[in-house]
Amino acid sequence: MQNIEKNLNKVRNNIAHLARRYRRDPKDISLLAVSKKKSAQDIRTAYSALQINFGENYLQEARQKMLELSDLEITWHFIGAIQSNKTRIIAEHFDWAHCIDRLKIAQRLNEQRPDSMAPINVCIQVNIDLETSKSGVGLEQVASLAEQINNLPRVRLRGLMAIPAPHEELESQRKPFARLRHELTLLNQNGLDCNTLSIGMSHDMEAAIAEGSTLVRIGTAIFGERL
Ligand SMILES: *Cc1c(COP(=O)(O)O)cnc(C)c1O
Repeated sequence: MQNIEKNLNKVRNNIAHLARRYRRDPKDISLLAVSKKKSAQDIRTAYSALQINFGENYLQEARQKMLELSDLEITWHFIGAIQSNKTRIIAEHFDWAHCIDRLKIAQRLNEQRPDSMAPINVCIQVNIDLETSKSGVGLEQVASLAEQINNLPRVRLRGLMAIPAPHEELESQRKPFARLRHELTLLNQNGLDCNTLSIGMSHDMEAAIAEGSTLVRIGTAIFGERL
């Protein structure tokens, strides 16, 4: 078996194991394979092992791979920061965008989403640690931004996403994820219909699953270290 296939199976088994540990249904946790800086061939290998969802951070690189892989029915997620002059490419080629941090970006995606496609799925990126260096909106801005995005017909607000500051300890990793989970509950109590918590990477997947992650974004543990 190729490494990628072995790694994928390991990650899947790990997700199932953690789901049991934290009394979650493993079916509620999707695996997003983060393929940035990895080749189209690597994606093809993972796809042969039944991986459907792939995440990319760099648009030019992603478009090149999409062209090479147009024979496959991949669900593409854009997980990088979004500049407003890049929204059209995302609106025309991606199924999901995880890093929405201002209304203007959502409005542009709404205007530019082709009628032939389903509304684009989006998550609001939350700056959960209030680190000034990171992108994302503060917790106190989430509710109003969510309300406004929810009014855009060609954009479907699915939930919240975060990349917390790195911590070693499980308990410290869980805290910011717990805040995000609470915020998602509040949105749903206010009448929104959001089911996605896009949290968890290779090093903090357990903490994310413990706190309700519905989509873990895993690169290194599947494809190996990036150069
Ligand atoms: C690169 C990246 C990942 C994957 O990280 P790994 O540590 O390789 O699992 C997940 N989410 C985002 C937003 C990323 O940029």
